[in-house]
Amino acid sequence: MSEMVNVEEIFASKVFTLGKMKERLPKGTFKEVKKIMDEGGELSKEAADVIAKAMKDWAVENGATHYTHWFQPLTGITAEKHDAFVTHPDETGKMIMEFSGKELIKGEPDASSFPSGGLRATFEARGYTTWDITSPAFIKETATGPTLCIPTAFCSYTGEALDKKTPLLRSMEALSKQAIRIVRLFGNTEAKKVTASVGAEQEYFLVDAKKALQREDILFAGRTLFGAPAPKGQEMDDHYFGVIRERVGGFMHDVNLELWKLGVTSKTQHNEAAPAQHEVAPIYESANVAVDHNQLVMETLKRVAGYHGLRCMLHEKPFARVNGSGKHNNWSITTDNGINLLEPGQTPNDNIQFLLVLACIMKAVDTHADLLRQSASNVGNDQRLGGYEAPPAIISIFLGEQLEDVVNQLVETGKADSLKEGGVLRTGVSTLPDFVKDATDRNRTSPFAFTGNKFEFRSVGSSDSIGSPNTTLNAIVAEAFCEAADRLEAAEDFELAVHDLIKEYMTKHQRIIFNGNGYAKEWEEEAARRGLPNIPSMVEAVDTLTTPKAVQLFEKFGIFTEAELHSRAEVLYETYAKSVNIEALTMIDMATTQILPAVMEYAGVLADTTLKLKDAGVSNAVSAKMLAMLTDKLAEAEDALSKLQEAEANATAMKQGKDQAFFYYRQVVPAMRALRTPVDELEQMVEKKYWPMPTYADLLFEV
Ligand code: ADP
Ligand code: MG
Repeated sequence: MSEMVNVEEIFASKVFTLGKMKERLPKGTFKEVKKIMDEGGELSKEAADVIAKAMKDWAVENGATHYTHWFQPLTGITAEKHDAFVTHPDETGKMIMEFSGKELIKGEPDASSFPSGGLRATFEARGYTTWDITSPAFIKETATGPTLCIPTAFCSYTGEALDKKTPLLRSMEALSKQAIRIVRLFGNTEAKKVTASVGAEQEYFLVDAKKALQREDILFAGRTLFGAPAPKGQEMDDHYFGVIRERVGGFMHDVNLELWKLGVTSKTQHNEAAPAQHEVAPIYESANVAVDHNQLVMETLKRVAGYHGLRCMLHEKPFARVNGSGKHNNWSITTDNGINLLEPGQTPNDNIQFLLVLACIMKAVDTHADLLRQSASNVGNDQRLGGYEAPPAIISIFLGEQLEDVVNQLVETGKADSLKEGGVLRTGVSTLPDFVKDATDRNRTSPFAFTGNKFEFRSVGSSDSIGSPNTTLNAIVAEAFCEAADRLEAAEDFELAVHDLIKEYMTKHQRIIFNGNGYAKEWEEEAARRGLPNIPSMVEAVDTLTTPKAVQLFEKFGIFTEAELHSRAEVLYETYAKSVNIEALTMIDMATTQILPAVMEYAGVLADTTLKLKDAGVSNAVSAKMLAMLTDKLAEAEDALSKLQEAEANATAMKQGKDQAFFYYRQVVPAMRALRTPVDELEQMVEKKYWPMPTYADLLFEV
C-alpha cells in the first residue's frame, strides 16, 4: 500500500510559479514580468538579473546544482544542456553559485547537430534559446540530480525557428488577435486576449522491461517489427476501463506524484482498449504550457517505468493487430474575461457568435484539411491512421445530431428556428436519477469531433509533440476569423452581414461535416466524391506544407516564412528515411542473426526426429510433414529477407531528400511487410523454446 500523500502540498512544489515569483521578487519586478506574460514585450536587463537571482536561490534551496535551457527541436522531443551554477572561485578559493539575467534569457547551444532542414549551414551553426516567459521554470529530479529547467524557444542566428515552440507561440498570438476582432463585433470591449487551451489525453503501453529489452525491435524502433498475435487480443473488451493491476497501479501512483510536483494536473487514468494499454490525461491549460507539459508527461512515463522495471512504449503502433496509441488533443478558445468561444449555450441556434465561430472553424478545417492531416503525421502514425481503428486519414468534422441539424437548417433556410433536444435518459430504476442526455453523442471514429465546448483532434500520434497540431489549428482558425472580421467590420448592416456570412460559410463547407462511421470503406468513397483529401501517409503529406495556399496562410500571420516551411519539409523527409532505415536494418538483423538460425535449429530437431521415428519403424509422417512446411516457409522468409536487403541497400545509396523518402515508403516499407508475414507464420510453427525472443503473449499479458 502506498503512503498518504498531501496533493495540495506537493502540487507545483518543483515549479517556479507566479505565486513564488510574487513572494520572492520586488513588487516592481513582479509587475514587469506579469505584464509581459499577459501582454508580451521584452524584459529589461535589470529585471532579468533580479529574476535570475530569485530563480537560482529557489532552485538551490531545492537542491539544484545545474540549470538548463529546455527546448523542443524538430526531433519532436526535448533537448537540454546542463550548466552548473558554478563560477570562477576568488583568490581564497571560495566559489559563489551564480546565475545572471543574461543566462536566464539567452542560451547558445551548438545548433549544428539539431535538424534544421538546410536553414543553417554548419559553418554558421549558431542557434539561440530564449526564455519563454509564459511557461514556468521547473526543477526536474532525475539521476543527474535536481536541475532547473527553463522552457525556451530555439531560433537560428538569423531568427528562423528551429523548434516546435516558436511557431506555436506565433500562432497563439495570431489567433488571439483575430479572435479579439470577432468578439469586438459582438460588443465585447473588455477582452484583451484570447487563449487557445489544450488538454492532451496520452495513451501508452506498459510492458516488462527485461522482456522488452530482449527484443531489438523494441530497443531500436520502439515497436515490434515481428510478432504473431497472441491467442487473445482485445476482442473481449475486458481491458478497457478494467481494474488496474497492482504493478501498473504502483506505476501510475508514482507518475502522478512526479507530475503533480511539476505542476502537471494529472487527472484521469484508466486502462485502454488493448491489453497493456493505458491512458493518462491532465486538465486543460494554455496551449503553450500544455505542449510543454505533454513533453513532461511523456518523459515522466518513461522514467518512472524504469524505476518499476517496466518499459513505457509511446509508439503509435507498438503491437500489430491490437489498437495503437494516440493523443486526443482537446482544443478550445477562451477570452481573458472567461468566455469560451466554443460554448454553444442552451440554445446554440440563437447564439450568433457561436454560429459564426463554428462556421469559421468549418471553413478553416475544410480549406486546410490537408494541413491538419499533415500536422498529425509522423513515422509511427502511418501505422495507425487509416488502419480502421484510429481516426481515418481523411479529415472531417463530427458535430453531433443537434448541431448538425442547426447547420442543415441554416444552409437550407438561412435560419435555425428549432433545436433538437437532448431528451431524458430513463434509467428504468426508481432509485437512480434520470439524466438529461447530452445532445451530442460521442463518435469515436471522427478525427475532429465537437465534444460539448471544445474540439477533440484525435489524429495526433501518441509519441509526437502536440506543438505542430496546435500551431496548425490556431493558424487556420486565425485565418478564417481574419477573413470574417474583414468583411463584417466593413459591413453596413452587421446583423444582415453576419447571417449571410454564416450561411455562406456553412453552405460552402458543409461537405467537411461527417457524422457517420469513419472506419467504413463507404466513407472513403463518399469522401472522394465530396472532394475531401485522403492522404494515406506521412511522406505524401509533406507537400501540403509548401503549397501556395499554405505559404500564404503561414506567412500572412507571421507563423512560418516560406524558407522555414521548406526547411521543415526537408526535416520530415530526412526523419522519415532515417526512421524507416533503422526499422529495416533492425528487421534484417533480427531475421539474419536470430530468427532464421532459430528456425533452422528447430528444423534440425524435426529432421532428427523424422529419422529416429523411421529407425524405430513407426510412422514419421507428421514430423516429416511439419518439417516440409517449416522449410518451405523458411525459404519464403529467406527470399523476403534478400529482397528487403536489396531495397534497403538501394535506398541508402540514394541522395537524402524527397525521392529517397518516397523510395523508403514505396519500396522498403512493403519489403518489410513482406518479410514480416512469413516470419510471423514461422513463429507459430516453431516450438516455443526455440523462438529467440519474448512473444506478444509474454509481453502483453504478463505485467
Ligand atoms: P474524454 O471523455 O474524451 O476522455 P474528458 O471530457 O475527460 O474527455 O476530457 C478530456 C480532456 O479534455 C481533458 O484533458 C480535459 O481537461 C480537456 N478539456 C475539457 N474541457 C476542455 C476545454 N474547454 N478546452 C480544452 N480542453 C478541455
Ligand atoms: Mg477523449
